[in-house]
Amino acid sequence: MAGHGSNQHVSAVGRRSLADSIGRLPRVNLAALPTPLEEVPHFAAAVGDVRILVKRDDLTGRAFGGNKTRELEFLIGDAVKEGAQVFVAGGGVCQSNHAVQCSAAALRAGLTPVVVLQRYRDAIAGNFLLDRLMGIDVRLVDTVAVDEAIYDRRTLLDVMANVADEYRRRGHVVYILPSSFHPLAAVAYASCALELTAQLDAAGIAPDHVYLASAGATQAGLALALKHLEVPTVVMGISHTAQRADLLARLAHLANDAAALLHIGTRVEPGDLHNESFAGPGYGILTEAGCEAIGLLARTEGMFLDPVYSGKAMAGLLAHVRSGRVSPGATVVFIHTGGLPALFAYGSEIVDELGGRHEGTGSAGF
Ligand SMILES: *Cc1c(COP(=O)(O)O)cnc(C)c1O
Repeated sequence: MAGHGSNQHVSAVGRRSLADSIGRLPRVNLAALPTPLEEVPHFAAAVGDVRILVKRDDLTGRAFGGNKTRELEFLIGDAVKEGAQVFVAGGGVCQSNHAVQCSAAALRAGLTPVVVLQRYRDAIAGNFLLDRLMGIDVRLVDTVAVDEAIYDRRTLLDVMANVADEYRRRGHVVYILPSSFHPLAAVAYASCALELTAQLDAAGIAPDHVYLASAGATQAGLALALKHLEVPTVVMGISHTAQRADLLARLAHLANDAAALLHIGTRVEPGDLHNESFAGPGYGILTEAGCEAIGLLARTEGMFLDPVYSGKAMAGLLAHVRSGRVSPGATVVFIHTGGLPALFAYGSEIVDELGGRHEGTGSAGF
């Protein structure tokens, strides 16, 4: 008991000092925090012998929520500190959550958003509809290798630099955010780890695993903070692109850049990190397992996942419960990173994929 008590003491001190370190960084208020932590018992019962709680970062609130809004509190904070008037974001493809969340956050903070996107699935629907409604300056770039460019934004950087120059020539101060693979985004998820551990402590729950859709700052920040707080819960990131040999090294590097910003001594090694790809054929391409996860959570809990990130991450959790990699009786926190506008851009394809499954349930409309 004495040991347990002293551990709690260390953790309380560690928690306060981490919160203080985070509190010293510039930040703007954008997200509705704390996000709820909700148990999903009907879903868990359908999945197997497992307890599942969902951390609802899909409810961060701005432009339909998601992990990027939490991250943008620090990224826009940095831009504002630098006196920026224009915020240039490079956001992958037309269904980019990053682009929409950046734009909505920039508008909220009084900055002019500009986004550079790869022309891929460019129908006016989902996130691309939101870009159009916000009336932002969108620059489309033709691309052949979506997966490559998602992983490595260097292909978009020239375009972003040119657009930035255009605005500078007109006298504006410009801030460029090439991607959310950024130490300040990891800081935001270190902050989320504080929020989550406080909620779990209040509920008396010590989870065995945290699952989430990430191959970047979201996972890196959570892993850094949990290690710093000496919380043994294993963070399992599920990638939305094909797995790269150097991913864990890149994530550790990012986590350690965040640790340096926070002036904390904790360092993350690649061996501390766990990540597996459930991308299937590639980024933004539907998978049967992802659609199954979307359908199962919707039918059991009336809760929704997106097809590009959170649906595939939940498919990863389902696969790991079924294979026994998540032990029977385990407790899992699933961090819902949002992305829901894309659901509406993939609507009929998802319904087609689920068609057979839903017919037998009397869903005649399908
Ligand atoms: C960007 C995004 C992720 C992945 O976040 P990273 O940690 O940057 O890899 C996951 N889910 C959604 C919905 C996203 O938009």
